[in-house]
Amino acid sequence: MANLALLNRRAPTAAVAPLVRAASAEREPQLIGASREELAGYLAAMGVSERQVAMRVAQIWHWLYVRGVTDVSAMANVSAPVRDALFERLPVGSATMVAEEVSRDGTRKWLLRFPDRGAGRPVEVETVYIPEEGRGTLCVSSQVGCTLNCTFCHTGTQRMVRNLTAGEIVEQVVFARRRLGDFNGAERSAGGPTAGRMVTNVVLMGMGEPLYNFDNVKAAMAVVADGDGLSLSRRRITLSTSGVVPLIPRVGAEMGVLLAISLHAVRDELRDVLVPLNRKYPISALMDACRAYPGLSNARRITFEYVMLKGINDGPADARALVELIRGIPAKINLIPFNPWPGAPYECSAWETIEVFADVVNRAGYASPVRTPRGQDILAACGQLRSTSQKLSARERRATAP
Ligand code: SAH
Ligand code: SF4
Repeated sequence: MANLALLNRRAPTAAVAPLVRAASAEREPQLIGASREELAGYLAAMGVSERQVAMRVAQIWHWLYVRGVTDVSAMANVSAPVRDALFERLPVGSATMVAEEVSRDGTRKWLLRFPDRGAGRPVEVETVYIPEEGRGTLCVSSQVGCTLNCTFCHTGTQRMVRNLTAGEIVEQVVFARRRLGDFNGAERSAGGPTAGRMVTNVVLMGMGEPLYNFDNVKAAMAVVADGDGLSLSRRRITLSTSGVVPLIPRVGAEMGVLLAISLHAVRDELRDVLVPLNRKYPISALMDACRAYPGLSNARRITFEYVMLKGINDGPADARALVELIRGIPAKINLIPFNPWPGAPYECSAWETIEVFADVVNRAGYASPVRTPRGQDILAACGQLRSTSQKLSARERRATAP
Protein backbone atom coordinates (compact mmCIF):
# COMPACT_ATOMS: atom_id res chain seq x y z
CA MET A 1 0.00 0.00 0.00
CA ALA A 2 1.36 3.33 -0.99
CA ASN A 3 1.34 5.98 1.66
CA LEU A 4 2.03 9.20 -0.09
CA ALA A 5 1.86 12.57 1.57
CA LEU A 6 0.32 14.49 -1.28
CA LEU A 7 0.20 17.96 0.02
CA ASN A 8 2.57 20.21 1.76
CA ARG A 9 1.52 19.95 5.31
CA ARG A 10 3.45 21.43 8.08
CA ALA A 11 2.36 21.59 11.66
CA PRO A 12 2.32 25.25 12.65
CA THR A 13 5.30 26.00 14.81
CA ALA A 14 4.64 27.01 18.38
CA ALA A 15 5.84 30.53 17.59
CA VAL A 16 3.08 31.06 15.05
CA ALA A 17 -0.24 32.04 16.50
CA PRO A 18 -3.22 30.22 15.02
CA LEU A 19 -4.53 32.25 12.15
CA VAL A 20 -8.14 31.81 12.94
CA ARG A 21 -9.43 30.50 16.20
CA ALA A 22 -11.22 27.44 14.91
CA ALA A 23 -14.76 27.21 16.26
CA SER A 24 -14.11 23.51 16.73
CA ALA A 25 -11.46 21.08 15.65
CA GLU A 26 -13.69 20.21 12.71
CA ARG A 27 -13.22 23.67 11.27
CA GLU A 28 -9.41 23.63 11.08
CA PRO A 29 -8.74 25.89 8.13
CA GLN A 30 -6.93 24.91 4.96
CA LEU A 31 -6.69 26.58 1.57
CA ILE A 32 -8.58 23.96 -0.43
CA GLY A 33 -12.30 24.29 0.16
CA ALA A 34 -12.26 27.75 1.76
CA SER A 35 -14.66 30.22 0.19
CA ARG A 36 -13.28 33.40 -1.38
CA GLU A 37 -14.54 35.30 1.67
CA GLU A 38 -12.78 32.93 4.06
CA LEU A 39 -9.56 33.21 2.06
CA ALA A 40 -9.84 36.99 2.16
CA GLY A 41 -10.29 36.79 5.93
CA TYR A 42 -7.20 34.59 6.34
CA LEU A 43 -5.10 36.94 4.22
CA ALA A 44 -6.33 40.02 6.06
CA ALA A 45 -5.46 38.32 9.37
CA MET A 46 -1.93 37.77 8.03
CA GLY A 47 -1.58 41.46 7.44
CA VAL A 48 -2.15 41.53 3.66
CA SER A 49 -3.37 45.02 2.88
CA GLU A 50 -7.00 45.57 2.01
CA ARG A 51 -5.93 46.87 -1.39
CA GLN A 52 -4.21 43.59 -2.22
CA VAL A 53 -6.54 41.01 -0.72
CA ALA A 54 -8.90 40.53 -3.69
CA MET A 55 -6.00 40.17 -6.11
CA ARG A 56 -4.24 37.63 -3.91
CA VAL A 57 -7.44 35.63 -3.47
CA ALA A 58 -7.87 35.46 -7.26
CA GLN A 59 -4.26 34.37 -7.72
CA ILE A 60 -4.41 31.68 -5.07
CA TRP A 61 -7.75 30.45 -6.41
CA HIS A 62 -6.22 30.04 -9.86
CA TRP A 63 -3.23 28.10 -8.55
CA LEU A 64 -5.41 25.80 -6.45
CA TYR A 65 -8.20 25.06 -8.89
CA VAL A 66 -6.92 25.75 -12.42
CA ARG A 67 -3.34 24.63 -11.93
CA GLY A 68 -3.85 22.10 -9.15
CA VAL A 69 -0.65 23.01 -7.30
CA THR A 70 0.18 21.18 -4.09
CA ASP A 71 2.57 23.69 -2.72
CA VAL A 72 2.33 27.43 -2.05
CA SER A 73 5.92 27.88 -3.20
CA ALA A 74 4.70 27.16 -6.74
CA MET A 75 2.35 30.15 -6.66
CA ALA A 76 4.76 32.24 -8.70
CA ASN A 77 2.84 35.51 -8.91
CA VAL A 78 2.00 35.61 -5.20
CA SER A 79 4.60 37.74 -3.41
CA ALA A 80 7.21 35.91 -1.37
CA PRO A 81 6.14 37.32 2.03
CA VAL A 82 2.54 36.21 1.44
CA ARG A 83 3.71 32.77 0.30
CA ASP A 84 5.88 32.45 3.38
CA ALA A 85 3.04 33.48 5.66
CA LEU A 86 0.74 30.96 3.99
CA PHE A 87 3.36 28.25 4.30
CA GLU A 88 3.76 28.93 7.99
CA ARG A 89 0.13 29.12 8.88
CA LEU A 90 -2.22 27.45 6.45
CA PRO A 91 -1.85 24.06 4.79
CA VAL A 92 -2.95 23.68 1.17
CA GLY A 93 -4.88 20.56 2.08
CA SER A 94 -4.83 17.59 4.40
CA ALA A 95 -5.44 14.42 2.39
CA THR A 96 -3.05 11.50 2.34
CA MET A 97 -3.58 8.67 -0.09
CA VAL A 98 -3.57 5.35 1.72
CA ALA A 99 -4.46 3.07 -1.17
CA GLU A 100 -5.31 3.15 -4.82
CA GLU A 101 -7.02 0.34 -6.67
CA VAL A 102 -7.67 0.12 -10.38
CA SER A 103 -10.43 -2.13 -11.62
CA ARG A 104 -10.30 -4.25 -14.75
CA ASP A 105 -12.80 -1.82 -16.26
CA GLY A 106 -10.67 1.25 -15.53
CA THR A 107 -12.62 2.37 -12.46
CA ARG A 108 -10.30 3.71 -9.78
CA LYS A 109 -10.88 3.78 -6.08
CA TRP A 110 -8.81 5.77 -3.65
CA LEU A 111 -8.75 5.51 0.09
CA LEU A 112 -7.95 8.96 1.44
CA ARG A 113 -7.00 9.73 5.00
CA PHE A 114 -7.84 13.00 6.72
CA PRO A 115 -6.88 14.25 10.18
CA ASP A 116 -9.14 13.30 13.06
CA ARG A 117 -10.75 16.75 13.45
CA GLY A 118 -12.66 15.68 16.49
CA ALA A 119 -13.08 11.98 15.67
CA GLY A 120 -10.30 10.83 18.02
CA ARG A 121 -8.13 9.37 15.28
CA PRO A 122 -7.53 10.02 11.56
CA VAL A 123 -10.43 9.06 9.33
CA GLU A 124 -10.55 7.40 5.94
CA VAL A 125 -13.00 7.75 3.09
CA GLU A 126 -13.32 6.35 -0.39
CA THR A 127 -13.51 8.28 -3.63
CA VAL A 128 -14.24 6.53 -6.92
CA TYR A 129 -13.54 7.57 -10.51
CA ILE A 130 -15.62 5.98 -13.25
CA PRO A 131 -14.43 6.61 -16.81
CA GLU A 132 -17.03 6.32 -19.54
CA GLU A 133 -17.19 7.10 -23.24
CA GLY A 134 -16.81 10.87 -23.51
CA ARG A 135 -17.14 11.54 -19.79
CA GLY A 136 -15.71 10.70 -16.43
CA THR A 137 -17.67 10.69 -13.19
CA LEU A 138 -16.19 11.21 -9.78
CA CYS A 139 -18.16 9.76 -6.89
CA VAL A 140 -17.33 11.65 -3.70
CA SER A 141 -18.08 10.93 -0.06
CA SER A 142 -19.74 13.42 2.26
CA GLN A 143 -19.44 11.64 5.62
CA VAL A 144 -17.24 9.03 7.26
CA GLY A 145 -19.79 6.29 7.73
CA CYS A 146 -23.51 7.09 7.77
CA THR A 147 -26.09 7.59 10.49
CA LEU A 148 -28.69 5.77 8.41
CA ASN A 149 -28.82 2.01 8.13
CA CYS A 150 -30.22 1.08 4.76
CA THR A 151 -30.19 -2.68 4.91
CA PHE A 152 -28.69 -3.24 1.43
CA CYS A 153 -25.84 -0.73 1.81
CA HIS A 154 -22.34 -1.57 2.97
CA THR A 155 -21.68 1.98 4.21
CA GLY A 156 -24.76 1.62 6.41
CA THR A 157 -23.00 -1.11 8.38
CA GLN A 158 -20.27 1.33 9.37
CA ARG A 159 -21.10 3.56 12.30
CA MET A 160 -21.11 7.26 11.66
CA VAL A 161 -17.73 8.72 12.57
CA ARG A 162 -17.98 12.34 11.52
CA ASN A 163 -19.01 14.73 8.80
CA LEU A 164 -16.42 15.68 6.22
CA THR A 165 -15.51 19.35 6.12
CA ALA A 166 -16.10 21.40 2.98
CA GLY A 167 -12.34 21.32 2.45
CA GLU A 168 -12.26 17.53 2.60
CA ILE A 169 -15.10 17.24 0.11
CA VAL A 170 -13.46 19.64 -2.36
CA GLU A 171 -10.13 17.95 -1.80
CA GLN A 172 -11.46 14.66 -3.13
CA VAL A 173 -12.13 16.41 -6.44
CA VAL A 174 -8.78 18.22 -6.51
CA PHE A 175 -6.94 15.05 -5.51
CA ALA A 176 -8.60 12.96 -8.22
CA ARG A 177 -7.93 15.53 -10.91
CA ARG A 178 -4.27 15.73 -9.91
CA ARG A 179 -3.90 11.99 -9.78
CA LEU A 180 -5.51 11.63 -13.22
CA GLY A 181 -3.30 14.34 -14.71
CA ASP A 182 -6.42 16.39 -15.28
CA PHE A 183 -4.74 19.71 -14.47
CA ASN A 184 -2.20 19.29 -17.25
CA GLY A 185 -2.82 21.69 -20.09
CA ALA A 186 -4.81 23.78 -17.65
CA GLU A 187 -4.75 26.79 -19.88
CA ARG A 188 -6.60 25.17 -22.76
CA SER A 189 -9.98 26.72 -23.27
CA ALA A 190 -11.20 25.72 -26.74
CA GLY A 191 -14.33 23.58 -26.62
CA GLY A 192 -15.61 24.76 -23.28
CA PRO A 193 -14.42 24.20 -19.75
CA THR A 194 -14.91 20.43 -19.66
CA ALA A 195 -13.54 19.60 -23.13
CA GLY A 196 -10.77 17.06 -22.86
CA ARG A 197 -11.23 16.69 -19.13
CA MET A 198 -11.10 13.41 -17.27
CA VAL A 199 -13.50 14.50 -14.51
CA THR A 200 -16.57 15.92 -16.23
CA ASN A 201 -19.21 15.05 -13.62
CA VAL A 202 -19.41 14.81 -9.86
CA VAL A 203 -21.91 12.69 -7.99
CA LEU A 204 -22.43 12.86 -4.23
CA MET A 205 -23.01 9.13 -4.07
CA GLY A 206 -20.07 7.95 -2.02
CA MET A 207 -20.12 7.32 1.69
CA GLY A 208 -22.68 9.17 3.76
CA GLU A 209 -25.95 11.06 3.49
CA PRO A 210 -25.06 14.45 1.97
CA LEU A 211 -28.13 16.18 3.37
CA TYR A 212 -27.07 15.35 6.92
CA ASN A 213 -23.97 17.44 6.19
CA PHE A 214 -25.83 20.15 4.31
CA ASP A 215 -23.72 23.24 5.05
CA ASN A 216 -20.39 21.63 4.24
CA VAL A 217 -21.73 20.00 1.08
CA LYS A 218 -23.23 23.30 -0.04
CA ALA A 219 -19.98 25.20 0.61
CA ALA A 220 -17.99 22.51 -1.19
CA MET A 221 -20.24 22.52 -4.25
CA ALA A 222 -19.94 26.31 -4.48
CA VAL A 223 -16.17 25.88 -4.79
CA VAL A 224 -16.46 22.97 -7.24
CA ALA A 225 -18.86 24.95 -9.46
CA ASP A 226 -16.90 28.22 -9.36
CA GLY A 227 -16.36 29.32 -12.97
CA ASP A 228 -12.85 30.66 -12.33
CA GLY A 229 -11.70 27.46 -10.71
CA LEU A 230 -12.74 23.83 -10.98
CA SER A 231 -15.59 25.11 -13.08
CA LEU A 232 -17.90 22.14 -13.02
CA SER A 233 -21.37 23.23 -14.04
CA ARG A 234 -24.06 22.65 -11.43
CA ARG A 235 -25.84 20.60 -14.08
CA ARG A 236 -22.96 18.17 -13.96
CA ILE A 237 -23.23 17.71 -10.22
CA THR A 238 -25.77 15.26 -8.80
CA LEU A 239 -26.65 14.96 -5.15
CA SER A 240 -28.16 11.65 -4.10
CA THR A 241 -30.28 11.48 -0.97
CA SER A 242 -32.08 8.69 0.78
CA GLY A 243 -34.92 11.17 1.29
CA VAL A 244 -34.29 13.88 3.86
CA VAL A 245 -37.51 15.58 2.81
CA PRO A 246 -37.28 18.94 4.65
CA LEU A 247 -33.93 19.74 3.03
CA ILE A 248 -34.81 18.79 -0.55
CA PRO A 249 -36.20 22.24 -1.50
CA ARG A 250 -32.97 23.82 -0.25
CA VAL A 251 -30.87 21.60 -2.53
CA GLY A 252 -32.59 23.13 -5.56
CA ALA A 253 -32.78 26.66 -4.22
CA GLU A 254 -29.35 26.97 -2.61
CA MET A 255 -27.13 24.50 -4.45
CA GLY A 256 -28.83 24.33 -7.84
CA VAL A 257 -27.49 20.86 -8.51
CA LEU A 258 -29.32 17.87 -9.96
CA LEU A 259 -31.19 15.63 -7.56
CA ALA A 260 -31.21 11.86 -7.29
CA ILE A 261 -33.52 10.04 -4.91
CA SER A 262 -32.71 6.61 -3.52
CA LEU A 263 -36.22 5.25 -3.81
CA HIS A 264 -35.77 1.46 -3.98
CA ALA A 265 -39.35 0.60 -3.00
CA VAL A 266 -42.84 1.77 -3.92
CA ARG A 267 -44.67 0.74 -0.73
CA ASP A 268 -44.04 2.21 2.69
CA GLU A 269 -43.97 -1.22 4.40
CA LEU A 270 -41.04 -2.29 2.24
CA ARG A 271 -39.27 1.08 2.10
CA ASP A 272 -39.47 1.26 5.91
CA VAL A 273 -37.23 -1.82 5.93
CA LEU A 274 -34.85 -1.02 3.05
CA VAL A 275 -34.46 2.69 3.80
CA PRO A 276 -35.40 3.10 7.49
CA LEU A 277 -35.51 6.90 7.11
CA ASN A 278 -38.81 6.25 5.35
CA ARG A 279 -40.46 5.82 8.74
CA LYS A 280 -39.79 9.50 9.33
CA TYR A 281 -40.40 10.76 5.79
CA PRO A 282 -42.75 8.38 3.98
CA ILE A 283 -43.06 7.98 0.23
CA SER A 284 -45.95 10.43 -0.21
CA ALA A 285 -44.01 13.25 1.50
CA LEU A 286 -40.95 12.40 -0.59
CA MET A 287 -42.95 12.56 -3.82
CA ASP A 288 -44.44 15.93 -2.83
CA ALA A 289 -40.93 17.31 -2.29
CA CYS A 290 -39.87 15.97 -5.70
CA ARG A 291 -42.84 17.53 -7.50
CA ALA A 292 -41.99 20.88 -5.92
CA TYR A 293 -38.22 20.64 -6.56
CA PRO A 294 -36.93 24.08 -7.61
CA GLY A 295 -35.72 24.18 -11.20
CA LEU A 296 -37.33 20.88 -12.15
CA SER A 297 -37.89 20.61 -15.93
CA ASN A 298 -37.47 18.14 -18.76
CA ALA A 299 -33.90 19.32 -19.11
CA ARG A 300 -33.31 18.97 -15.37
CA ARG A 301 -34.97 15.75 -14.39
CA ILE A 302 -34.87 13.95 -11.10
CA THR A 303 -33.15 10.57 -11.13
CA PHE A 304 -34.87 7.86 -9.13
CA GLU A 305 -32.43 5.19 -8.07
CA TYR A 306 -33.85 1.73 -7.64
CA VAL A 307 -31.67 -1.13 -6.48
CA MET A 308 -32.73 -4.51 -7.87
CA LEU A 309 -33.07 -7.01 -5.03
CA LYS A 310 -34.00 -10.54 -5.91
CA GLY A 311 -37.53 -11.43 -4.86
CA ILE A 312 -37.84 -8.25 -2.76
CA ASN A 313 -38.73 -5.30 -5.00
CA ASP A 314 -38.15 -6.53 -8.54
CA GLY A 315 -41.52 -7.83 -9.83
CA PRO A 316 -43.44 -6.35 -12.79
CA ALA A 317 -46.14 -5.14 -10.36
CA ASP A 318 -43.46 -3.10 -8.57
CA ALA A 319 -42.42 -1.64 -11.93
CA ARG A 320 -46.00 -0.63 -12.72
CA ALA A 321 -46.45 0.90 -9.28
CA LEU A 322 -43.20 2.80 -9.74
CA VAL A 323 -44.30 4.53 -12.93
CA GLU A 324 -47.65 5.36 -11.30
CA LEU A 325 -45.90 6.84 -8.31
CA ILE A 326 -43.70 9.24 -10.26
CA ARG A 327 -46.29 10.15 -12.87
CA GLY A 328 -45.99 13.83 -13.80
CA ILE A 329 -42.44 14.22 -12.48
CA PRO A 330 -39.77 14.83 -15.15
CA ALA A 331 -37.68 11.82 -14.25
CA LYS A 332 -35.15 9.19 -15.16
CA ILE A 333 -35.14 5.85 -13.43
CA ASN A 334 -31.79 4.35 -12.71
CA LEU A 335 -31.98 0.63 -12.12
CA ILE A 336 -28.99 -0.46 -10.07
CA PRO A 337 -28.18 -4.15 -9.97
CA PHE A 338 -27.53 -4.89 -6.31
CA ASN A 339 -23.82 -4.96 -5.61
CA PRO A 340 -23.03 -7.64 -3.08
CA TRP A 341 -20.72 -7.15 -0.13
CA PRO A 342 -19.54 -9.60 2.53
CA GLY A 343 -22.47 -10.63 4.73
CA ALA A 344 -25.12 -8.80 2.70
CA PRO A 345 -28.64 -10.13 3.33
CA TYR A 346 -29.76 -9.74 -0.32
CA GLU A 347 -28.99 -11.04 -3.76
CA CYS A 348 -29.08 -9.25 -7.07
CA SER A 349 -32.11 -9.88 -9.28
CA ALA A 350 -31.64 -12.13 -12.30
CA TRP A 351 -30.78 -10.31 -15.51
CA GLU A 352 -34.07 -11.31 -17.19
CA THR A 353 -36.02 -9.95 -14.22
CA ILE A 354 -34.20 -6.63 -14.54
CA GLU A 355 -34.97 -6.57 -18.27
CA VAL A 356 -38.68 -7.15 -17.70
CA PHE A 357 -38.71 -4.41 -15.07
CA ALA A 358 -36.84 -2.00 -17.36
CA ASP A 359 -39.24 -2.78 -20.18
CA VAL A 360 -42.30 -1.79 -18.13
CA VAL A 361 -40.61 1.45 -17.16
CA ASN A 362 -39.49 2.20 -20.74
CA ARG A 363 -42.93 1.57 -22.14
CA ALA A 364 -44.32 4.11 -19.70
CA GLY A 365 -42.03 6.68 -21.35
CA TYR A 366 -39.17 6.85 -18.85
CA ALA A 367 -35.54 6.38 -19.72
CA SER A 368 -34.35 3.59 -17.50
CA PRO A 369 -30.69 2.88 -18.00
CA VAL A 370 -29.54 -0.10 -16.03
CA ARG A 371 -26.44 1.08 -14.24
CA THR A 372 -23.69 -1.28 -15.31
CA PRO A 373 -21.87 -2.27 -12.16
CA ARG A 374 -18.45 -0.65 -12.30
CA GLY A 375 -15.40 -1.54 -10.31
CA GLN A 376 -17.07 -4.48 -8.58
CA ASP A 377 -13.78 -6.37 -8.44
CA ILE A 378 -12.36 -3.65 -6.18
CA LEU A 379 -15.56 -3.12 -4.13
CA ALA A 380 -15.96 0.31 -5.71
CA ALA A 381 -19.50 -0.12 -7.01
CA CYS A 382 -22.53 1.67 -5.51
CA GLY A 383 -23.06 0.78 -1.91
CA GLN A 384 -19.86 -1.21 -1.56
CA LEU A 385 -17.86 1.60 -0.04
CA ARG A 386 -16.85 1.29 3.55
CA SER A 387 -13.73 2.27 5.43
CA THR A 388 -12.43 0.84 8.64
CA SER A 389 -12.58 4.22 10.39
CA GLN A 390 -14.30 4.05 13.73
CA LYS A 391 -15.07 6.68 16.24
CA LEU A 392 -13.20 6.29 19.47
CA SER A 393 -15.29 5.98 22.60
CA ALA A 394 -14.66 8.57 25.31
CA ARG A 395 -12.71 5.94 27.24
CA GLU A 396 -10.54 5.00 24.23
CA ARG A 397 -9.95 8.66 23.59
CA ARG A 398 -8.72 9.25 27.15
CA ALA A 399 -6.46 6.22 26.80
CA THR A 400 -4.83 7.52 23.62
CA ALA A 401 -4.61 11.14 24.76
CA PRO A 402 -1.02 12.37 24.99
N1 SAH B 1 -26.64 8.35 1.11
C1 SAH B 1 -27.00 8.75 -0.19
C2 SAH B 1 -25.86 8.71 -1.19
C3 SAH B 1 -24.92 7.54 -1.13
S1 SAH B 1 -25.46 5.98 -1.67
C4 SAH B 1 -28.16 7.92 -0.68
O1 SAH B 1 -28.49 6.93 -0.05
O2 SAH B 1 -28.72 8.28 -1.69
C5 SAH B 1 -25.45 6.04 -3.45
C6 SAH B 1 -26.45 5.08 -4.10
O3 SAH B 1 -26.04 3.70 -4.01
C7 SAH B 1 -27.82 5.14 -3.42
O4 SAH B 1 -28.84 5.14 -4.37
C8 SAH B 1 -27.82 3.86 -2.64
O5 SAH B 1 -29.12 3.48 -2.32
C9 SAH B 1 -27.14 2.90 -3.59
N2 SAH B 1 -26.68 1.67 -2.97
C10 SAH B 1 -26.34 1.50 -1.68
N3 SAH B 1 -25.96 0.21 -1.47
C11 SAH B 1 -26.03 -0.42 -2.67
C12 SAH B 1 -25.73 -1.76 -3.10
N4 SAH B 1 -25.22 -2.64 -2.27
N5 SAH B 1 -25.92 -2.05 -4.39
C13 SAH B 1 -26.37 -1.11 -5.25
N6 SAH B 1 -26.66 0.15 -4.91
C14 SAH B 1 -26.50 0.51 -3.62
FE1 SF4 C 1 -26.38 5.90 4.17
FE2 SF4 C 1 -27.08 6.16 1.56
FE3 SF4 C 1 -26.01 3.86 2.50
FE4 SF4 C 1 -28.49 4.56 3.20
S1 SF4 C 1 -27.76 4.07 1.10
S2 SF4 C 1 -26.90 3.75 4.58
S3 SF4 C 1 -28.28 6.77 3.36
S4 SF4 C 1 -25.00 5.84 2.41
